Amino acid sequence: MKISSVKPAAAAAKHDHSRCVGDALRAAERVCADRVVRLTPIRRRVLEIVWSSHDPIGAYDIIAKLPRGDRPAAPMTVYRALDFLVEQGLVHRLDSLNAFIGCDRATERHAGQLLVCGRCGKVTEIDDPRVQRAVDAAAAEHGFRCDAALEVKGLCARCSGAA
Ligand SMILES: [Zn+2]
Ligand SMILES: [Zn+2]
Ligand SMILES: [Zn+2]
Repeated sequence: MKISSVKPAAAAAKHDHSRCVGDALRAAERVCADRVVRLTPIRRRVLEIVWSSHDPIGAYDIIAKLPRGDRPAAPMTVYRALDFLVEQGLVHRLDSLNAFIGCDRATERHAGQLLVCGRCGKVTEIDDPRVQRAVDAAAAEHGFRCDAALEVKGLCARCSGAA
């Protein structure tokens, strides 16, 4: 598990993605076992779909990707599964995109910062303790406690022409 490295910029480029999915599922099993919470079949299935790529995915696309037999009668089931995955830090919710993205450092308690490219929609998770400490401290002055990943909007290296 990477500690605070930035995901390779070309995470979406050719690589053996089945390993990413395998790692994510194993991490989820470990996290759930440690916290004595259940990774039910629907939660596992939803996590797998979120991990179908490194790009953010919306709840409706997740529902559409569920095999017919697994498709719950109510989308509520999927929303509840997503709430669980977010709560356990296995998935991050991107409020600005109304979408979800798998976390590759789920076994570590972290808030994380998500760099969201406004042009291509690519999301890169970084986990810089300096940023988190600064935000936590500033928020605490207002009696505010941060409990979700920070979304930082801008342009990725590729879109800004830096790469
Ligand atoms: Zn991958
Ligand atoms: Zn994360
Ligand atoms: Zn971009």
